[in-house]
Amino acid sequence: MVSRYGDAIAAQAVTEVLAEGWSNGVAERTIDIYGPPRRTLTIRASVIDDGRRPLGVIAFIEDVSERRRLEDIRRDFIANVSHELKTPMGALGLLAETLQFERDPAVANRLAERINSEAFRVNRIIEDLLDLSRIESEGSPMREPVPVSLIVADAIERIRTSAEQHAVTLEFIEPEANYVSVGDRRQLISAIHALLENAVVYSPAGGSVVISIDRVEPTANDEGDVVGPLVRIAIRDQGVGIPAKDLERIFERFYRVDPGRARETGGTGLGLSIVRHVAQNHGGSVVVDSREGEGSTFALELPMNQ
Ligand code: ADP
Repeated sequence: MVSRYGDAIAAQAVTEVLAEGWSNGVAERTIDIYGPPRRTLTIRASVIDDGRRPLGVIAFIEDVSERRRLEDIRRDFIANVSHELKTPMGALGLLAETLQFERDPAVANRLAERINSEAFRVNRIIEDLLDLSRIESEGSPMREPVPVSLIVADAIERIRTSAEQHAVTLEFIEPEANYVSVGDRRQLISAIHALLENAVVYSPAGGSVVISIDRVEPTANDEGDVVGPLVRIAIRDQGVGIPAKDLERIFERFYRVDPGRARETGGTGLGLSIVRHVAQNHGGSVVVDSREGEGSTFALELPMNQ
């Protein structure tokens, strides 16, 4: 539904397109109604006749808002991907050119190392993009029971070396019960891994990351439906934290609070969008509680298999 004001604009446009259609045979116009909600309508008019003379003019109104929105998202995404790849690719070209004329083996060696790290960066972006597109397109095809402690332990093992390199300790508080969820083990492990990876890289040396698993009792949501029980996998760090104004946006693709720092940490800006998709595919959600300078807690909440 559009507002009254929107209705008036649409009605006015329909009248005009009908008049134009009547005199020209056909007419078309697309109008934007700035709402809220924002809407885009396409109005097409054409004359109907009985083969000899015109009988009248008919208008078709199509709400193309959703199609427009999807086109915008696609366009933004392509622009973002190109931009993200452009920087390391530009660096690669320059480094290779410099290397070509470098006679000092020590300098040549450093240049080669930088080429290697830029290539690694491109590779990470492409791998994350492929993961994201796979997770978006496949939904949750696997519906196997997943023991939550086991997949968390698996993700922790995968992050251990990186945690040691960052001098960050990992503490896993094992739950008393064996909670089980349902879904795709591989997707869930990569989501937990992405959250652990962030907790480690955004922690100071000497920091600790605490991982816990709890049961969340059923609650009524805003619509009055009962939700739960859920299994809540929480990952708490004592790292840099996230400013309140950025909290809404960190799940967007390529969004980073501090792009300069993200370059240092090797982040692609895609990790949390992957986590959000995995949560959605499993009928769950990912929530965050963070305070700048104090640390963050990310929690993946999944329906419990009872
Ligand atoms: P990245 O690959 O850059 O880490 P993500 O999508 O995983 O991308 O995260 C988006 C942004 O959210 C990060 O760039 C960072 O600014 C912020 N962020 C995510 N997790 C944490 C965390 N545990 N502590 C502080 N900031 C975080």
